[in-house]
Amino acid sequence: MSVTLLEWGRLLPTADNVTWYPWSQNNWILPKHRFIGWLMVQQRLLTQDRLIRMNILQSNLCFLCGVAPEDHPHLFFLCQYSQICCDLVSTWCRFSIPLKDSVEWWVNARFRSLCQKKILGIILAALIYQLWMCRNRSRVELSLSRPEVVLYLVQKDVVMRIQSCNCKIKNVMVQQWVNTICSN
Ligand SMILES: [Zn+2]
Repeated sequence: MSVTLLEWGRLLPTADNVTWYPWSQNNWILPKHRFIGWLMVQQRLLTQDRLIRMNILQSNLCFLCGVAPEDHPHLFFLCQYSQICCDLVSTWCRFSIPLKDSVEWWVNARFRSLCQKKILGIILAALIYQLWMCRNRSRVELSLSRPEVVLYLVQKDVVMRIQSCNCKIKNVMVQQWVNTICSN
């Protein structure tokens, strides 16, 4: 099977791929979360702005807030609803996840240890995944879950993942932090 120049060009690294690389190496992130996050970083999720460009939709109002056009920057996390979810998750994990360029923040920020960075990657990926699922449920069911439900689902995924990874944490303060978030 031959590969056209256009197809080959899509396989080459882009700025988004470079941003995504450290996350793609974080094998603690659930595969389904990593996949949605990969699509999000490359702005490939089928948000309404893309569907309108494809002539599939006419309206582009966000399913979560209903007041602004839906695109990737809006959903992650400039939307009022996403902001509330992000604030709840930030309070829970004791890290202030920025509303804009959150993946770049995770890639570039300094954390106490690699282990803490990987766990915050799990948290951010879970938040992106659950917001996307919430948005999809809202689109189909025409009703919106409370932000606390999104927080609960993020916590459930993260705690389950931390426990199944059987992380060996050497830093005492990071271990205390993990104990705290897993017990809340
Ligand atoms: Zn919105």
